[in-house]
Amino acid sequence: MQQRDVIVLGAGIVGVSTALHLLARGWSVLLVDKNAPGEGASYGNAGLIERSSVIPYSFPQGLKTLIKYGLNRRSDLRYDPFYLPKIAPFLFKYWKASHPKELHVSTQMMLPLIEASVLEHDAIISEAGCKNLIRSRGWIEIYRSPQAFADFLAGIKRFDAFGLSYDILDNESLARRQSGLNDVAGAIHWLDPKTTISPGNLVKAYADLFERKGGELSYGDAGSLKQSGNGWQLTTNDGPVQASTVVCSLGAHAPVVYEPLGYQVPLGIKRGYHRHYTTHGDAWLNYSLVDAEGGFTLVPMSQSIRLTTGIEFAAPNAPANCIQIKRCEQKARILFPELATSIEDEPWLGLRPCLPDMRPVISKAPHHEGLWFNFGHAHHGLTIGPATGRLLAEMMSGEEPFADCTGFSIDRFG
Ligand SMILES: Cc1cc2nc3c(=O)[nH]c(=O)nc-3n(C[C@H](O)[C@H](O)[C@H](O)COP(=O)(O)OP(=O)(O)OC[C@H]3O[C@@H](n4cnc5c(N)ncnc54)[C@H](O)[C@@H]3O)c2cc1C
Repeated sequence: MQQRDVIVLGAGIVGVSTALHLLARGWSVLLVDKNAPGEGASYGNAGLIERSSVIPYSFPQGLKTLIKYGLNRRSDLRYDPFYLPKIAPFLFKYWKASHPKELHVSTQMMLPLIEASVLEHDAIISEAGCKNLIRSRGWIEIYRSPQAFADFLAGIKRFDAFGLSYDILDNESLARRQSGLNDVAGAIHWLDPKTTISPGNLVKAYADLFERKGGELSYGDAGSLKQSGNGWQLTTNDGPVQASTVVCSLGAHAPVVYEPLGYQVPLGIKRGYHRHYTTHGDAWLNYSLVDAEGGFTLVPMSQSIRLTTGIEFAAPNAPANCIQIKRCEQKARILFPELATSIEDEPWLGLRPCLPDMRPVISKAPHHEGLWFNFGHAHHGLTIGPATGRLLAEMMSGEEPFADCTGFSIDRFG
């Protein structure tokens, strides 16, 4: 039987980054996925390496906003009414954890990861030689209604403590940066983030680096993991493999490992869609655009423009429902009339793995020797995957972690 120090389960941005950091610390690493690297949520996201998202996406607190969401007619959030009873316990915990005091705690916990995000990507990108996939132009947050823009500006001081760089744009200055947009109330150009023109290929480039440096990649089903002797055994397409240590970095599919072992984690899934579009003539987007009110992004990818949606609460394995992407498409066409035909008939559907306190699980398993977790990266897995990979590798290797990891323990769920 093959023997390795560690098996990393899941080759999304989180698993590949964790595998790279363990390899760099001298572990012999087998990275296992049922598919090729970067084909889960890490393939279909908006490609923002979101250095400016210093405050996690919280649950709305105001009654007026809650009522608006309750009507279920919005483009930024949709829910399947039949799924509400199932997701209600998660939503209640999420709402509680979004109260200002609790949100402040999560913000402080997440901050070192967000602050490290671009630097950690840069380090891997330069070794992997994939700078061609990266743009260093930040992204632009659009406000269509004067009231929403005014509300945002009224609260902009809350970002001062974080030292972020941004430009406030009126309609004319926005038009100078990006042609082809309809009039809007105003915009913020966040300058610190980077973006990728192909998140899936970025993860593949990181996985290629992992293999070039001596890591091994194999296909297999994480469901075959079992305890064996003092360690763990997994069946892969190349035969059974034994290791003293396992990392579960399966994103939304992490329950396949922790549930049979008896861990209860309030993981909620926020579904999200994307679809690609051609443009009229040689119109193009120079920047990734986020429509704050519509809850969608329009981002320039390698071949086409990608439209991504906000949140959908529905059973993770339920078929795709086109309502939300159609609502977003309508708004996107008003903002950027150069959007032409959609390339795919069916939208891509992805699963964001979310914990109610808006923090991932980066943790040792308290009751199972040699088992570690790195999942639950919600809206910012592409952003913080490399940073959380480093943090977990430091914890596993007995090094001083670069950030306080107590808030990421699986123990916090009791
Ligand atoms: C529409 C949308 C837009 C987003 N935009 C952004 C953004 O702009 N910036 C950002 O930072 N984040 C964004 N996100 C979030 C981000 O995509 C996720 O947080 C991130 O991809 C999670 O990475 P992961 O490695 O944990 O999971 P995944 O990428 O899903 O990887 C998990 C891996 O596990 C594998 N797997 C599953 N089950 C098994 C099994 N039984 N056996 C073996 N392997 C298995 C899968 O094949 C997959 O490769 C967005 C998400 C969505 C849906």
